[in-house]
Amino acid sequence: MSDFEVTRWLRPNIRGLEPYSSARDEFSGEALVYLDANENPYENGLNRYPDPRHTELRKRISAWLGLDPKMLFLGNGSDEAIDLLFRASCNAGTDRAMAISPSYGMYAVCAAIQGVEFDKVLLNDDFSLSADRLIRAIRPVHKLIFLCSPNNPTGNLLDREEIIKILEVFSGVVVVDEAYIDFSDSSGLIDLIDQYPNLVILRTFSKAWGLAGVRCGMAIGNPEIISVLMKIKYPYNLNSLTQKRVLDALNKSSGIPEQLDVIRDERERLFEGIESILGIREIFVSEANFILVKVDHPKQVYNQLLNKGLVVRNRSSQDLCAGCLRITVGTPEENQLLIESIKTILS
Ligand SMILES: *Cc1c(COP(=O)(O)O)cnc(C)c1O
Repeated sequence: MSDFEVTRWLRPNIRGLEPYSSARDEFSGEALVYLDANENPYENGLNRYPDPRHTELRKRISAWLGLDPKMLFLGNGSDEAIDLLFRASCNAGTDRAMAISPSYGMYAVCAAIQGVEFDKVLLNDDFSLSADRLIRAIRPVHKLIFLCSPNNPTGNLLDREEIIKILEVFSGVVVVDEAYIDFSDSSGLIDLIDQYPNLVILRTFSKAWGLAGVRCGMAIGNPEIISVLMKIKYPYNLNSLTQKRVLDALNKSSGIPEQLDVIRDERERLFEGIESILGIREIFVSEANFILVKVDHPKQVYNQLLNKGLVVRNRSSQDLCAGCLRITVGTPEENQLLIESIKTILS
């Protein structure tokens, strides 16, 4: 079993940090008159500071996910949680982080900003995770390991048992980014959260929930880690409009994103449409809302799609992704146009 210990994992300066105490931290009850925060007293719906602890929204999301609110952090996108995990744990110049490759680019960027060396461990050729290979690369200076499931840009789920092997031995935090989990047939790893104090799961309202513009993401983990993230975030990291909009979305949909079924059906239709095109080298089964497709001349295909007004993502420079374009599932009309355009380009 992992010998993870929050205190040892934290940077020394974070261990003893006294966080900023806002007016709303010092008084959070109901009052007749609020003269404590230097706000403009004239009501316009936004003249008051937002709740720094997101109390109502955290309660609502926790109930939906079956969690204690103490296990939930909300950030300005899950990108904020990624950044804060680095700032909480990694001493610049000495500590290191690790991630699978290919994967989401923000892990490396946040490492670089914090001055932390970053090690990539290749997935297998079929994009599956080899826990043994990753574990062999772990050194005592590693504080964070990033896994992404379903993985961006490959679209596959990582094997649960392989992730558990890593959780069992790593004395830092394993971050499992589940930004795309809603699109998959899996319910992810939330059920392991009480069992592994070194597991942090990231979720987001940016993808399946159709709320990329509001910027709201989640980190789920043991209360000690979550309380540290709460302590080091900007006091008002989620504005009032964001908190209200996410609450409305959850209340309206009883916990299931509105267009999820359509997007999943369209993913299958897009897959079949592209698969049957002559000149497609390979197409990868996806549990996310995008499909990775291999062609002979990715740059050329990318540019020709662009000439027709369609933008996809060229991922051909990423590890194991030579020749690959990543295509997001659009509306039925958009997908049809994409299929016909590729057909014309490759014929
Ligand atoms: C899109 C994406 C996110 C989302 O980040 P937000 O900041 O919540 O919008 C996180 N992780 C991965 C792998 C993604 O692809």
